[in-house]
Amino acid sequence: MKIKTLSCVVKRAENVGIIEQDVQYDDGDQYQTLIRLSRGGICGSDLHYYQHGKVGNFAVKHPMILGHEVIGRIIKTNSPNLRINQKVAINPSKPCHSCKYCLSGEINQCETMRFFGSAMYNPHVDGGFTQYKVVDNTQCIPYPEDIDDEIMVFAEPLAVAIHAAKQGGDLKGKRVFISGVGPIGCLVVASVKALGAQDIICTDISQRCLNLALEMGATKVLHANDDFSEYAQHKGEFDVAFEASGHPSSIERCLEVTKAKGTIVQIGMGGNLPNFPLMTLIAKEINWKGSFRFVEEFNTAVNWLASNKVNPLPLLSATFSFKNFEDALKTAGNKNDISKVQIIFS
Ligand SMILES: [Zn+2]
Ligand SMILES: [Zn+2]
Repeated sequence: MKIKTLSCVVKRAENVGIIEQDVQYDDGDQYQTLIRLSRGGICGSDLHYYQHGKVGNFAVKHPMILGHEVIGRIIKTNSPNLRINQKVAINPSKPCHSCKYCLSGEINQCETMRFFGSAMYNPHVDGGFTQYKVVDNTQCIPYPEDIDDEIMVFAEPLAVAIHAAKQGGDLKGKRVFISGVGPIGCLVVASVKALGAQDIICTDISQRCLNLALEMGATKVLHANDDFSEYAQHKGEFDVAFEASGHPSSIERCLEVTKAKGTIVQIGMGGNLPNFPLMTLIAKEINWKGSFRFVEEFNTAVNWLASNKVNPLPLLSATFSFKNFEDALKTAGNKNDISKVQIIFS
């Protein structure tokens, strides 16, 4: 079976377009499901490809379909566990299932992960901003018919946030600090709350983002320029800090306000840190942990959204048809006024 499909591609920096391709589905193919995509969310990495033609060292070398936060309906499948027309969230991870990390269950560390919309490999891995796509059966996570699409599109970024929250250990009754409350930081707020954190104190340079953090469950917010000395006394007040901005001053602040032997979870991606306060890390015996993508938390995220444990809708700022793809990217790039932008494919 062959279907014509339109896809949103990036060719190089600020050069995007819509291309028509054929998507091929063969019933005999193993473990394959054909999806008609309904909606997608624009993520920071999609924006990076658009604005700079690369993410980190991974430059776009040929047209690549963007997008890894997508949901859709099943058109065809050979899985006994899935059915035609079922609504599914698509897990954008495609691990190899055979490297040492995959075999030990740490699939987010897969040595040859094929992640949607990534220029890490050449040829690049196409993403989900397209009308039709063939995916592995295991990438399809069904969700109830009555859950709105605009909610379920948050499954992927919420999975990132839940995975990060879990790096902080048992959060029940804990005092938590979150520095940087863009969409991911705000979803970390909701996640640590759902996991039982008692105090959730957030900071950012944007008052709009701080207001969103309050809506998502923060108990208190402070502007980045406010006085934090009360939280730095006694070698710090917080059990766990989440650094979600990547800015050196934010990393420094996390080290100041996290108590001795506490944990800092690093989510924000930044550049070099020439003046990194190494001595604070050593002397306070801080656990500084990275957090990257997710494993089974994708299924947890689908469950939490389907059961209304987390309401992500305060973070949705605008919705566009995929035909206005470039306008959607430009709008998403306006960080002062905009959080999440979604694209509709059908
Ligand atoms: Zn994302
Ligand atoms: Zn692997």
